[in-house]
Amino acid sequence: MRGLHWFRADLRVLDNTALYAAFKKCDVLFAVYIITPKTWQRHDAAPAKVQFILNNLVCLSEQCRKLGIPLLIRQCDYFSECPKVLSTLCKEFNIDTLFYNKQYEYDEMRRDQMVLKKLGDKITVEDFDDQLIMPPGTVLSQQNCPMQIFTPFKKVWLKKVSETEAWKPHAPIKRSYQMTTTPDPVPSSLENFNCTINLELWPAGEKAAQKRLQKFCHDSIEKYHEQRDFPSIEGTSQLSPYLAQGILSPTQCVQAIVETLNHSSFDKIQENIGAATWLSELIWREFYRHIMFFHPEICRYKPFKKNTDNIPWRYDENDFKNWCEGKTGFPLVDAAMRQLNQTGWMHNRLRMVVAMFLSKTLFLDWRMGEKYFMQHLIDGDLAANNGGWQWSASTGTDAVPYFRIFNPITQSERFDSSGDFIRQYCPELAHLNNKQIHNPYDRGVSPNSLNYPKPIVNYDQMRKKVIAEFKNMGIR
Ligand SMILES: Cc1cc2nc3c(=O)[nH]c(=O)nc-3n(C[C@H](O)[C@H](O)[C@H](O)COP(=O)(O)OP(=O)(O)OC[C@H]3O[C@@H](n4cnc5c(N)ncnc54)[C@H](O)[C@@H]3O)c2cc1C
Repeated sequence: MRGLHWFRADLRVLDNTALYAAFKKCDVLFAVYIITPKTWQRHDAAPAKVQFILNNLVCLSEQCRKLGIPLLIRQCDYFSECPKVLSTLCKEFNIDTLFYNKQYEYDEMRRDQMVLKKLGDKITVEDFDDQLIMPPGTVLSQQNCPMQIFTPFKKVWLKKVSETEAWKPHAPIKRSYQMTTTPDPVPSSLENFNCTINLELWPAGEKAAQKRLQKFCHDSIEKYHEQRDFPSIEGTSQLSPYLAQGILSPTQCVQAIVETLNHSSFDKIQENIGAATWLSELIWREFYRHIMFFHPEICRYKPFKKNTDNIPWRYDENDFKNWCEGKTGFPLVDAAMRQLNQTGWMHNRLRMVVAMFLSKTLFLDWRMGEKYFMQHLIDGDLAANNGGWQWSASTGTDAVPYFRIFNPITQSERFDSSGDFIRQYCPELAHLNNKQIHNPYDRGVSPNSLNYPKPIVNYDQMRKKVIAEFKNMGIR
């Protein structure tokens, strides 16, 4: 059999379900990655994310070469042209079977349907669930329905996984091929995706991802529950860009947890609070993908809770610009936005703080923030990003109640009490003491003495207004 593996968000050779299936079946194997810049632009892909993909393709090509698989690179503008690209490739290399791992986003699923239609009966298409430990449809309520609340979802997820071997990665492949054609060079950059972020923080390749995973498990996982909320501490794994592009699989993560806990069983994870808390985050990742699969309207700018579509959000360009640039006059919010702008990544606690600040203090449409995040995040991922934004804006499933609004100053005092994180990203505030730094002008600092904006809104007034607006709409 002559096979073609189509890499998409699974940029690794280890523990890759479709690639392993191709290995088992094919006498000759090719691989392809299709670059689709216009669709990526339409999807608001951040230049950092695109550059990260390109950097990873270089490593992937090398890994494939070692296995005797040439990685071919093709480029077309839009997803809609992928069927033609693949059909031409299949003819050129006399392919009879196409392999790929499923993606669950609306446009990606539509693209795959078009591919199936185009290749039709000439080429066999084999697709696989690979992105999640428990794919959509495998975690259902007692009534056999998709679940919409995280805690019961997690309970069923844990039960199902512990009853199966789903959490175990595939055994490594032993096989390799004779290379029959030369791999294509990977473009070093792409027009219209000019990355200005230093990607040294995000070394490419599955080896780098594995190294980061091992380091996190070794140094931090047992303290994860205590440290994960403090942005000045490196208490989280920073693996999100690798998980988003499939450079690392969730099963590899769970395997690493089990190995860290002295090769105990999956069930034992629950006995270690740090490891159990981290596993819970991986389950949130799965939960939001299930939600996206069963509610594709969230990929089309619709809120999960339909009645929140009528909320009279504001669209004030100035406030939005200040939020984007980290000039709101609320130090923690500003430091967080500058972290995003400078590194392409933001700590989870801060994502919640700035998302809630945009939607429930500035009362701007959460979709403006969701889009800005996608345009800047190196780990931009539709399901997790949309889930996080709708949670914060109280428009999503299992979202925070509308009247629970994070106070950016209290959050700052609690999670950056020493002001270290603020000092790193707002150097103009670095000389202030630990009390002043969270809210300078209310703590006796004269506006003339600082080159830092005054708060652009009155938090208490906006809080009252926003709660009233939600109440008026009859939202619970
Ligand atoms: C408004 C908002 C937007 C977000 N946008 C994204 C996004 O575009 N891409 C993204 O990967 N995550 C997103 N998240 C979730 C979370 O903030 C990041 O996954 C996390 O900060 C990544 O850092 P880490 O790898 O150190 O996470 P860790 O704490 O080490 O967690 C391990 C992994 O679990 C997953 N994960 C953790 N928290 C969540 C969560 N709440 N929802 C879904 N998956 C989670 C990620 O894959 C992460 O790498 C968003 C959260 C919010 C509140």
